[in-house]
Amino acid sequence: MKDILAPLGARAFHARQIMAWFYQRGVSDFSRMTDLSKGLRTALGKNFRADELLLMTERRSRDGSRKILLKTADRQLIESVLIPSRERLTACLSTQLGCKLNCGFCATGAMGLVRNLTAGEIADQLFHLQSMAGWQNRITNIVFMGMGEPMLNYDATLSAARLINSHLGFNIGARHITISTSGIVPGILRLMEEPEQFKLAISLSATTDAVRNKIMPVNKKYPLKELLTAAREFSNRKGKLVFFEYILLAGINDGLDDADRLAKLLKNIPGKVNLIPYNPGEKNGLFKPSPPQAQHAFFERLLQQGVAVTVRMSKGQDISAACGQLRAAAISKQT
Ligand code: SF4
Repeated sequence: MKDILAPLGARAFHARQIMAWFYQRGVSDFSRMTDLSKGLRTALGKNFRADELLLMTERRSRDGSRKILLKTADRQLIESVLIPSRERLTACLSTQLGCKLNCGFCATGAMGLVRNLTAGEIADQLFHLQSMAGWQNRITNIVFMGMGEPMLNYDATLSAARLINSHLGFNIGARHITISTSGIVPGILRLMEEPEQFKLAISLSATTDAVRNKIMPVNKKYPLKELLTAAREFSNRKGKLVFFEYILLAGINDGLDDADRLAKLLKNIPGKVNLIPYNPGEKNGLFKPSPPQAQHAFFERLLQQGVAVTVRMSKGQDISAACGQLRAAAISKQT
């Protein structure tokens, strides 16, 4: 920011003032930054645009989650979600427009990849979500689990995560920022080398290569053994738990034999499993959610084997909150 402002004759403290207006007070209109000189405000307004994204739609779920659809300068649509729970307020951010990895249970995967988002577009999603929540009601946690594979847009994702983490930015602790991957091993190894203590989540959702190859084709490139070796290495190096997301799909990966294999696979990896009831969405008819009895039996079986496990309630079923669903619905309405 300091370097960008230097040609306007602004100094480092001006940069800090502007950052505070953006990220502490939620003001992106330069003319309202009243502690800057009038000349600087005018010059900023002439030379820069602070907001990247335009708010198009907001949907509120009965369970309190809120999803927004944002439009980019090149008229593409991005989704972001705000998820309140008792003790935290979580923002789920997108990192790509679409995704090329084509996981069978995901509406975004069905769209293919349009392009990577810039760091500014990723961070601006948070600005919009925070504005919607109110700047007094600060967002506490970030998950990069919206549209796209964060590790395939690594630099922009990391840059946004650093801005979110910075005390001059959103000032959210690294331990409250989770970067998720469907299993891009080089991304996990890169993240392991970063100085920050960002959390890692891996979307696992299968216990054999045969099943994972079918539902998450990325597994053909980075099979389970390689992926779990990287997860173990990450956990050992960082001294942190790795979070394994497991979407329960009826008859595909929700048997007790799967639970047993999962416990065995994760035996030496300090981690935690989040079971996620599948949210089928409007158009995605390939899979069915696992019935509640099967979910319960799966959960109990993991517990019996000493696996740390939680069941994440699928939020926002009534607002198409699974990644890519709202965008898909908006596009199908346009066409
Ligand atoms: S689940 Fe994630 S990685 Fe897989 S297709 Fe959807 S957005 Fe891409």
